[in-house]
Amino acid sequence: MPASLKSLPSRTADSGTDSPLRRRVRRVSDCVFCRIVAGAAPAHRVYEDDTVTAFLDIRPITRGHTLVIPKRHATDLSELDAETGVDLFRVGHRIARAVQGPGFAADGANLLVNDGKAAFQTVAHVHLHVIPRSHGDKFRFATGLVLRRSREPERVAAALRADLAALDPRTGSADDTA
Ligand SMILES: [Zn+2]
Repeated sequence: MPASLKSLPSRTADSGTDSPLRRRVRRVSDCVFCRIVAGAAPAHRVYEDDTVTAFLDIRPITRGHTLVIPKRHATDLSELDAETGVDLFRVGHRIARAVQGPGFAADGANLLVNDGKAAFQTVAHVHLHVIPRSHGDKFRFATGLVLRRSREPERVAAALRADLAALDPRTGSADDTA
């Protein structure tokens, strides 16, 4: 359990009503992305600010496949406030531009939110996929979609951080990264 939650009531400490706070504590402590936000689960982080964090997908479709998530738990878009949604896309936009830098030389990217189980959402915490793409990568993309294999994530994360840092803040989609 993240250290920040230790002072909150345990779900087993009280057999009384299932309060909104108790439900929230349970959801957050059961959520792998919330554990990443709290530093209690490992991730190759490439970006972080007050509301959003981004890290490599543990099962990337293509090299540099990144997930952008709100730090505050939201199971799906119905629980996500619009301002945080803007923050998510702002960071996704910036990462999509960064992967066209020297570390990746991507030609484009897919930005995608699977909202709800019906849409194949597999982790119940909103996440924006940024999937780097290259011209003629149809076969490699299809293979990656099946294998979802991570290779040298430390090097990939370092390359992405470098490409993010190299973006010109005047033309980038965000102005708050160092
Ligand atoms: Zn969560």
